[in-house]
Amino acid sequence: MKNKNDQQTVDWCEDLFGLTYKQEIKHGTVTAYKKHKCRCEFCIKAKELSDQRAELRKVIKAQAQQVGVV
Ligand SMILES: [Zn+2]
Repeated sequence: MKNKNDQQTVDWCEDLFGLTYKQEIKHGTVTAYKKHKCRCEFCIKAKELSDQRAELRKVIKAQAQQVGVV
């Protein structure tokens, strides 16, 4: 299954099972968004959340430094 050059077997399997042998992607993760360049609604949402969290961390860190906690 890993042999990309073996198109014949892949086609044959697709005929049989109606499947495509793509790399397994876990959707709703930033990994899928970044690494696999998936842009389904779940992956986009995951990226958004991740960005929001990163932004929050930045703000909190900046505030903590101002107050002198860190
Ligand atoms: Zn996805």
